[in-house]
Amino acid sequence: MSDIRDEVAAGFQEIYGSAPLGIWSAPGRANLIGEHTDYNEGFVLPFAINRRTVVALGAREDGVIRVASAFADEVAEIALSELAPERLRDWSAYPLGVAWALGQYGADLGAVPGVDLYIESTVPVGAGLSSSAAIESAVAVALNEVWQLGLSLQTLARVGQLAENKAVGAPTGIMDQSASLLGRHDQAVFLDCRSLESELVELGFADAGLELLVIDTGVSHDHSTGGYAARRASCELGARLMGVPALRDLGVEDLPRARDVLDDETFRRVRHIITENQRVIDTVTALRTEGPLAIGDLLYDSHISMRDDFEISVSELDLAVETAQANGAIGARMTGGGFGGAAIALVPSEGISRIQVAIDGAFAEHGFSQPTMFTVTASDGAGRN
Ligand code: ADP
Ligand code: MG
Repeated sequence: MSDIRDEVAAGFQEIYGSAPLGIWSAPGRANLIGEHTDYNEGFVLPFAINRRTVVALGAREDGVIRVASAFADEVAEIALSELAPERLRDWSAYPLGVAWALGQYGADLGAVPGVDLYIESTVPVGAGLSSSAAIESAVAVALNEVWQLGLSLQTLARVGQLAENKAVGAPTGIMDQSASLLGRHDQAVFLDCRSLESELVELGFADAGLELLVIDTGVSHDHSTGGYAARRASCELGARLMGVPALRDLGVEDLPRARDVLDDETFRRVRHIITENQRVIDTVTALRTEGPLAIGDLLYDSHISMRDDFEISVSELDLAVETAQANGAIGARMTGGGFGGAAIALVPSEGISRIQVAIDGAFAEHGFSQPTMFTVTASDGAGRN
């Protein structure tokens, strides 16, 4: 971390000609289990990872906000009082959208001081590890402190979600921001996406001799269009036809009625959400009673449900998961919104290289581009430094 902190301070100095006031950061996240359950007001079990987006911030005398990123060439600039979702586009819609969204949650954008922001990140972009929540959460904690807003981490998660939904135009849920803000070392965040109540759940991977391997297929997704929005619409239709406010209100006992009421496709979408919610609860119980060696089948069942019922996997993700399973992983599944991105595999430390070699070989055999593989550990959420 100290390397990227120094880099970001130097980068800030170079662009804006002065030293920053302070440095804040927020992690990406891996979702252990609970996919597409967040916007159905259900349960998720993500954890913050040891890759972070770092923001250097300097205060200004006027009411202007400027943002720059190592990721892009241009410096975006706008008066805080003129922020509006329809005026924001491209990557700067994430940080500027957060500033706008803070205004929706009580910040007086006509009165707070302007800021200069410079952003660097070690979270891979578009890999399903939520570089988007990392940038939103890093900017949110920085502005919350500098503007002395006193908003809770839960509210900052809402702020990030509002920015992503309205300024970026991606209809994503509350999970990613919650993980990035609430995560803790060696803990997962068991989040009820309706009440936003959360509990930390000890993962204990290292104690059990396990590591979590991320397999980034390099197949990029786009959440603001296409499949993600279509799955959301299916879930809303399913809830309406079943007569409940959200699919969260259905359990496995409702599956027979769902089969009668819904067309086959909507039924399978609904079945994924119902069974996935149950798997999240079962995973929490298993971690607490038996430890991480007991969660393998739940991870794999989750993948099968996403592949067959929710239909958000792609061949590369299926191959990564099957190859990991066949070469000694405790369990594996695609993670994130789907249609590309990364898979995760819970693997015994001594078996990691064998699994990596097997996955590289399988991808080569199928003519797929080589995936990027790295391990992640559960880390602390957003904060200063
Ligand atoms: P994911 O969250 O899975 O990484 P998304 O498509 O949700 O993928 O978010 C990626 C987008 O977020 C990027 O295309 C870019 O617009 C923005 N973004 C993420 N990190 C940065 C960064 N460090 N600097 C600038 N923009 C970023
Ligand atoms: Mg994202």
